[in-house]
Amino acid sequence: MIPFVDLKAQYRSIKDEVKVALDDVLENASFVLGPAVARFEEKFAAYCGTKHCVAVNSGTSALHLAMLAAGVKRGDEVIAPAMTFVATVAAIDYIGAKPVLVDVDPASYCMNPTKVEAAITPRTKVVMPVHLYGQSADMDPILDVARRRNLIVIEDAAQAHGAEYKGRRCGSMGDIAGFSFYPGKNLGAFGEGGALVTNRDDFAKTVRMLRDWGQETKGVHVLKAFNYRMEGFQGAVLGVKMNHIEAWTEGRRRAAAIYDRLLSDVPGIVLPTEMSYARHVYHVYGILVKSRNAVARKLQDAGIGTNVHYLNPIHLQPCHVELGHKRGDFPDAERLADEELSLPMYPELTDEQVIQVAAALRAALCA
Ligand SMILES: *Cc1c(COP(=O)(O)O)cnc(C)c1O
Repeated sequence: MIPFVDLKAQYRSIKDEVKVALDDVLENASFVLGPAVARFEEKFAAYCGTKHCVAVNSGTSALHLAMLAAGVKRGDEVIAPAMTFVATVAAIDYIGAKPVLVDVDPASYCMNPTKVEAAITPRTKVVMPVHLYGQSADMDPILDVARRRNLIVIEDAAQAHGAEYKGRRCGSMGDIAGFSFYPGKNLGAFGEGGALVTNRDDFAKTVRMLRDWGQETKGVHVLKAFNYRMEGFQGAVLGVKMNHIEAWTEGRRRAAAIYDRLLSDVPGIVLPTEMSYARHVYHVYGILVKSRNAVARKLQDAGIGTNVHYLNPIHLQPCHVELGHKRGDFPDAERLADEELSLPMYPELTDEQVIQVAAALRAALCA
């Protein structure tokens, strides 16, 4: 069996280190925020190349606070890609703002920068690119239109820890960014977790208050706010994992390179493109194949787990009928929903396992 993802393999490789870090939290009873979280924030800001990191209790909370820091209000509009995880758009909905969707680029699968300008109205406040599957959106044209039209840029970097655009880390290019540390993400907590990163002092100060009941100093609540604090255990785990993230990312890239090489001549599939501007971190290695469900079944029969990211684009999700879209509105997003198949991808995959998956996929398509 080769599962789609194997979290146990990673735990085995860092067990001793993690137990020491967790024990430290227990001995200090620093269960919420505390020194382990503060140390992780420092490491993660340095890793992203940003001035600030503010750790919270999920990626969704991070994006929600990013909206508030950006000053998005009820009735404002936020431009987001039609293909992403629902949480991107949920953060917009939490404010009562309106998601305005644009199609994705057929090569990078991220927000198509040529579609942004036409989506801007007098109510637009924010452009929210998503670095989908672990590859950066084409940020220069997005940042350029945002600058010209006076819009804030919030990066959804939930899938893009360590990903780069022209040598700059994802999360460091817009005004503020949200990361997720959900266990299955490239940097995963032992539970829920998330963080904001930003170079803006004003935004960092606001989100730091918003995650902890709006306190400016202890007992002085200057904002109506939330309990979005990161737990000490998660800060401890993530702090340990920061020592390994680069090696793990290289493990993903190595597996992706083998898939690329072994699958390049398999008929009827489209492989992911690493854009010339990008360091892809392969949160997802997704191929496109028309007979997706049949191929997934054949791989399952061969003992290989797969996944789909995502079955529906945002505009066709039942919970978003209010946006008034129909099939055909965003064809590149719809193609991903119809044809994307995520192959097993995690740093601990051995070369032999990758070769086995590639062979099974070839057999499924050539039989
Ligand atoms: C995982 C994810 C989120 C939400 O993160 P959680 O930590 O699960 O709340 C947001 N956006 C994208 C693109 C994601 O993949």
